[in-house]
Amino acid sequence: MALPRVVAVAHGSPADRAGVLPGDEIVALDGRLPRDIIEYQLLADQERLGLEVNRGGLELALNVEREGGEPLGLEIDAALFDRVRTCDNHCEFCFIHQLPKGMRKSLYVRDDDYRLSFLYGNFTTLTRFTEADFERVVSEGLSPLFVSVHATDPEVRARMLRNRRGATSLRWLRALLDAGVEVHGQVVVCPGVNDGGALEGTLAGVLDEYPELSSLACVPLGVSRFNREASMRPHSPQEAKAVVDLVEEWQELFLRCLGRRLVYAADEYYLLAARPFPLLESYGAVAQHDNGVGMSRAFEASFEGRNLVEERTGPSGFFRSLEGAPALGYRAPRQAPEAVTLSPARWAGVTVLTGEYGARVIEPLLAPLQEDVRVVAVRNDFFGGNIAVAGLLTGPDVAAALADLPRGRRYLLPDSCLSGGRFLDGSSIGDLPQPVEVIAADGASLRNAIAPALGLATAR
Ligand code: SF4
Repeated sequence: MALPRVVAVAHGSPADRAGVLPGDEIVALDGRLPRDIIEYQLLADQERLGLEVNRGGLELALNVEREGGEPLGLEIDAALFDRVRTCDNHCEFCFIHQLPKGMRKSLYVRDDDYRLSFLYGNFTTLTRFTEADFERVVSEGLSPLFVSVHATDPEVRARMLRNRRGATSLRWLRALLDAGVEVHGQVVVCPGVNDGGALEGTLAGVLDEYPELSSLACVPLGVSRFNREASMRPHSPQEAKAVVDLVEEWQELFLRCLGRRLVYAADEYYLLAARPFPLLESYGAVAQHDNGVGMSRAFEASFEGRNLVEERTGPSGFFRSLEGAPALGYRAPRQAPEAVTLSPARWAGVTVLTGEYGARVIEPLLAPLQEDVRVVAVRNDFFGGNIAVAGLLTGPDVAAALADLPRGRRYLLPDSCLSGGRFLDGSSIGDLPQPVEVIAADGASLRNAIAPALGLATAR
């Protein structure tokens, strides 16, 4: 088990007053070495705390005193201090199997760890979930969790996961729901495998066996040019329409039976089917926003300064803000440390760089402005296949697009394609042929970035 390492200490915080320094390794908190950041938060929740640290081989005992619930003031280098639990599945549609060689090591980790599900919204199949895990989830109130359902038919599910435990692991979903844990589900829909009748069977299975599920997202599989599974292919527009039709039919049924829609199709399906997105109101709390469900409508609304999505799903109650947790995982706030702000005097218009899907959402919002604000859809040649979301844009594709674009314009790039200032391929915005400004991937941030130049009101 690795010792948690302190990467930052907030100035004037209880940890700072006690003398903790960046680089210190935590040996014990209140006499115990926490397994993960969740246990760390539970152990640290007291006014007086004994902290043992290792500083360059020297063991120090420090006394931390907190006043009135103030945060400890530490940032730790990892969320899990023991080993991340990796999955024992071999899904045909797994995107990790479709990554090229040579990317960051962490991208190849196939985690199936309920703690990362709780902390960052990663989906777990529950095939490695145990009685001890169940007890911990319930006793520590680790809710909500995110579960990959894929199919409720045991045989179809086991086949999709290529794991016989896939046939039985949804019994844990039933147990979690019985224990009152909030669970969001997803179905990665693979044409010819779990769409059509199989998807209808899954929706019927959810209504019958798991009606307490908070939401169920139907998302299309991603197929990169590195895919080696012959049976995995992108949906045709016709197949996408069939998924949307089926989901909308079942939404009506869920509404009648449960008083809520429960199941949603990802935005990608509406784009592929050339159908308008449902109204934002129909997405409820837009709980699977980060899974691409209702994201476009939420973007529009926040761009127009309407009704921002505030009820975002994440750790709840005591864990609503996780002290010390590093910004890992796709649901974590992304940082743009290398963002460049260009002087307004240098602008000769604004260009928003985004993925091909993002461009289809943003273009209609900017069109009525009648100003020199353009959108460039960056094609994803790095991954190829049907990959068109902004979050999977890489440095080489953005660089290729920028190389063909005029100098002197202000270029905006969403932060969703960066983690710690780096693209998935490891390059950084400093490697791009022109300077770009990195902005948060939401409508309000886009509006606020362009509003002063266009004389628009900023969004809240
Ligand atoms: S469970 Fe997830 S990580 Fe594991 S093989 Fe399937 S898709 Fe990949």
